[in-house]
Amino acid sequence: MADAPPFGPAHGFGLYIHWPYCTRICPYCDFNVYAAKDRDNGPLNAALLADLDRHADLLAGHPALGSVYLGGGTPSLMAPADIAALIETAEQRFGLEADAEITLEANPVDISRAALDGWRTAGVTRLSLGIQSLEDEALNFLGRDHDAAMAKQSVAEALTVFDNLSVDLIYARPGQPRASWKSELTEALSLGAPHLSLYELTIEERTAFGQRARRGELVPMDDDDQADLYELTQEVCEARGLPAYEVSNHAASKQYQSRHNMTYWRGGDWIGIGPGAHGRLTLEGTRIATHAAARPADYQLSAQTPLKPASFSGLSPLDNARELIALGLRADAGFDLERIRQVTGSEVDLATLKSFIETGLIRQNGSTVSLTREGRLLADRIAAELSP
Ligand code: SF4
Repeated sequence: MADAPPFGPAHGFGLYIHWPYCTRICPYCDFNVYAAKDRDNGPLNAALLADLDRHADLLAGHPALGSVYLGGGTPSLMAPADIAALIETAEQRFGLEADAEITLEANPVDISRAALDGWRTAGVTRLSLGIQSLEDEALNFLGRDHDAAMAKQSVAEALTVFDNLSVDLIYARPGQPRASWKSELTEALSLGAPHLSLYELTIEERTAFGQRARRGELVPMDDDDQADLYELTQEVCEARGLPAYEVSNHAASKQYQSRHNMTYWRGGDWIGIGPGAHGRLTLEGTRIATHAAARPADYQLSAQTPLKPASFSGLSPLDNARELIALGLRADAGFDLERIRQVTGSEVDLATLKSFIETGLIRQNGSTVSLTREGRLLADRIAAELSP
């Protein structure tokens, strides 16, 4: 990648589609989500298609897409025919690489043989299943609408259609004992999904959990105990052949690593469509950030207006460098010192880099810098200290 320009689709090119509706809002969730209720999906589907069109007009010279990611919200609530229409339009307007990864986030309650077949026929190649826990009590605490039996059943059913399956779990829940996380994680690994996304519960201020924490009704796990569970997570997953390739993501082999997320971590280009979606695009050598209107009604209106290069302001060299370092460090692949020089004209803090290498938090291979397992625990702090 040394001869590639510092930005652009040479570092990955993907499409993120945000579907903002959920049957109910989980108390820990701070995504841009809305309760689904009875509603007509037609206007949002039309807006998503229009948004694809206007991005295709803006990005005439871009290559074929390497990945499409339908996230949310709960995109498994969409009709398979609407998913198919989006994938088809993306293919017509941008092209899709022959081995493009097309991921759909799904909730266990939406899994059925008919739905799985419908998604497969629509063009989905990878499923990301939000089971979150294998304990009924924890699922109840997390406000989920499925129980442990349904979580396990959904993984088994999904694997009959999608070999490329990812499972999400949330750990470091208040008061969660080490031994119970160990057995829950071991059981999750035995379900056979080749990819796990394992997130520590974070209590965000503007969520229902945030309110409960402010009232003193919920006490988050302290940092030391969280770090202890993180270490345990690495040990258990490594022993079972699913090592981390990113702070929270584990895969059985390279083939199952998320190609779409890799585009984020490598600083590639991605189109973001749907309410509140973010994108990063390179226009005439300048990297720009896009951010769609958050409220569905506003988004539906705005998606009809053509995109003009002049309406975007480019990211500054410093913003770009900070993002490359912060996101690059999350993944095993790390970031490239030479690319940071190209982007900013200046260096990362070399004295700080040296001290992180000496303390075993960072490793350097040529011009590539990445975190060690110990370093991953401190990824955000290390990125902030290295950044110019
Ligand atoms: S289902 Fe997922 S996106 Fe929807 S509210 Fe719950 S955590 Fe958030």
